[in-house]
Amino acid sequence: MAEFYYQIKGRMPGKEGSYSEWAWPPVFSGIVEAEGRKEAKAKIEEDYGRQFPMRVLRKDMDEHEYLLHIRELAPGDVYLRRRFLDTACKECGTPFKLIDKYNDPYADHRGPDYCSERCASAGKKRELLDFNLAAEGRLPAVIYQVRQKATGKVYIGQTIQAFTLRWWQHLTTPSDCKFHEALKSSPITDWEFSVIEVVEYPPECKNKLAYLTDRERFWIETFNSVANGFNTTLPAKISPQEPLDLEAAF
Ligand SMILES: [Zn+2]
Repeated sequence: MAEFYYQIKGRMPGKEGSYSEWAWPPVFSGIVEAEGRKEAKAKIEEDYGRQFPMRVLRKDMDEHEYLLHIRELAPGDVYLRRRFLDTACKECGTPFKLIDKYNDPYADHRGPDYCSERCASAGKKRELLDFNLAAEGRLPAVIYQVRQKATGKVYIGQTIQAFTLRWWQHLTTPSDCKFHEALKSSPITDWEFSVIEVVEYPPECKNKLAYLTDRERFWIETFNSVANGFNTTLPAKISPQEPLDLEAAF
């Protein structure tokens, strides 16, 4: 069995005097399992109780309301598969699937980062605010820990955003990492969040991101929080004096 990604596109009147066009996003996009393209098409048509053309000539467009587009979905097609996976909204943390937004004619926001237009505009405003605060030195980069009171084990993280937002994102973003699994396993009263270092960059620092990651590594080693805590990996040992390919977010 293979998987096929399909789109049913709807016709949209062209601008004055020009040909009709197929509208985006499609009326519906989905995945169907089948032995081949032919069987995939048959399954879709059975679902909809009608037939769809897979090719329509420009001159015949006015006779067809819909167009069916099918392509085999490779197991490694991360780009298309991502549309079908839960993504956490960058602003509120609510999980959403991009494909649901494409399929919802009333969706007010179809970008990949935010669940809704409201979060998208709030997120953009906050990014500007964060940028201003950072520029004024009022939003410093920090290393934080999240400690489980019952066990004393910690998770160490870094952020250049408002640190309370990062805590909120951990609480609301589902994932399988051991920290998020642990968070789900005991009540919120069992956890405490604190800032353990306000990172001050030395004047000769050439790469702030690498320096910040180096401080994070220092604390992860100090608390041994990979072997005996909730960090999954130790950040690579990066010398802050060596330029990285990664452009720092500053
Ligand atoms: Zn949201």
